[in-house]
Amino acid sequence: MDTQLQELADYAIKYSVDSGVQYCDVRAEEQERKSVLIENGQTEHVRSINDAGIGIRLVKDGTWSFCSITNPKSKEEVKKAVEVSIKNSIHYAKNKREKFNLYPNSVVKKKIDYPILEKPELEKLIQIGTECNKIISNAPKIIKSVVNPWYTNNSKYFVNSEGSQILQNFSDVVMDMVATAHESGLTQSVNITEGGRGGMEEISKNNKAQNSAENISKKASELLSAKPAKEDKATVVMNPDFVSLLTHEILGHPSEADRVLGKEMAWAGGAWWKGKIGERIGSEHLNVFDDPTIEESLGWYHFDDEGVQTKKTTLVEKGVLKNHMQNRETGQVFSTEPTGNMRATNYRFMPLIRMACTCIGNGDWDVNEMIKEVKSGYLISNMKIPSIDMKRYNWSISCQYAQKIENGEVTDLLRDVIVMGTAPEFFESIDACGNDFTVRPITNCGKGDPMQSMIMGNGGPSIRGIATVKSVN
Ligand SMILES: [Zn+2]
Repeated sequence: MDTQLQELADYAIKYSVDSGVQYCDVRAEEQERKSVLIENGQTEHVRSINDAGIGIRLVKDGTWSFCSITNPKSKEEVKKAVEVSIKNSIHYAKNKREKFNLYPNSVVKKKIDYPILEKPELEKLIQIGTECNKIISNAPKIIKSVVNPWYTNNSKYFVNSEGSQILQNFSDVVMDMVATAHESGLTQSVNITEGGRGGMEEISKNNKAQNSAENISKKASELLSAKPAKEDKATVVMNPDFVSLLTHEILGHPSEADRVLGKEMAWAGGAWWKGKIGERIGSEHLNVFDDPTIEESLGWYHFDDEGVQTKKTTLVEKGVLKNHMQNRETGQVFSTEPTGNMRATNYRFMPLIRMACTCIGNGDWDVNEMIKEVKSGYLISNMKIPSIDMKRYNWSISCQYAQKIENGEVTDLLRDVIVMGTAPEFFESIDACGNDFTVRPITNCGKGDPMQSMIMGNGGPSIRGIATVKSVN
């Protein structure tokens, strides 16, 4: 981290405190981002972006205000920004009925370098990307192959008026891939994202990206001869990749305490289970947690954007709603400690309560045994596109592909399948969880106004329940 940027962050705290704020925190951030787009064997573009700045969040007269400065150069700039923020707080405080308190948090001074086995490099990114693009293109009936690998090197310095100073340095390496096949009027696309927090190993380990490129291109070709599914309410076995998005949408988002309180409805809505902590919301097989300590997940971090140390938080235990994800403000409302989920896309935004790595807990079933017991049902594989109501009650999520299960055997491949249900009925129907727990990368979660796009991990094992399945084409 650039020492001048760090010094200006420290100065912002000093000046704010001297100006009589009740609380202030500052995030100084530097990010280097490189991304490559490879389409049908051609490198379409290479993008390189460097961004640095500070975000200042302060409380005056019991009211938040926030400002950010890109590439701040002088104390004078910081001083002006703080003065405007303080004025804003004083102005808004006049119309604000509810003043708030922050849940106590320990003071920490720490520097953390996240492990990297192989340094992210553009050349290597292009090499793996091109390889994967070729693998996709070479599969039969493929008409389009798109590969978008990218990495970021990040340095984040958090400092607050209580005395915390936390520096975290980490890298993310991710690759998005899409294979599109076409034959006699029918087009089928399969996409996947690989990657995590770490170095090149996040996509190169065990040929992870190459294997996924192979799988999606093969599947896109096969789907050209797959059947559509008729509408059917039946037993479904969902694989961990599909479960990751399902968990994100119908368990993760409604677990964000700001949404539960109705303070943050933009983009992902409220929560139908408001006021139900301690009540049963699903079957005893349903365990849900958020865990920012899962290494190499895109939601792995030691301290969040308000300096709270992370740990695993139980959200649902044996079907009973236990807790939500809390920040220092909502923690005070719910009388429970903050869970380390406050995150902002970058220094330009106020942090919001965001999932880190929200997952359904592992069970003890072998997935083959789970399938064997199904007389007539569906095996649902890999996440595609979600569509969920504002309270996260009615959900429908499309999968990359599905297969029929008949008398315990996986049979016909099915295309264009969406899976639908209502949250409480589906949660109650879960009767088995596999022992194949997997965390998947999620790179495009939107929340807030102005909208913040966030990366995170989501995961779970294979799960079995009852839902409605149908093909949309
Ligand atoms: Zn989301």
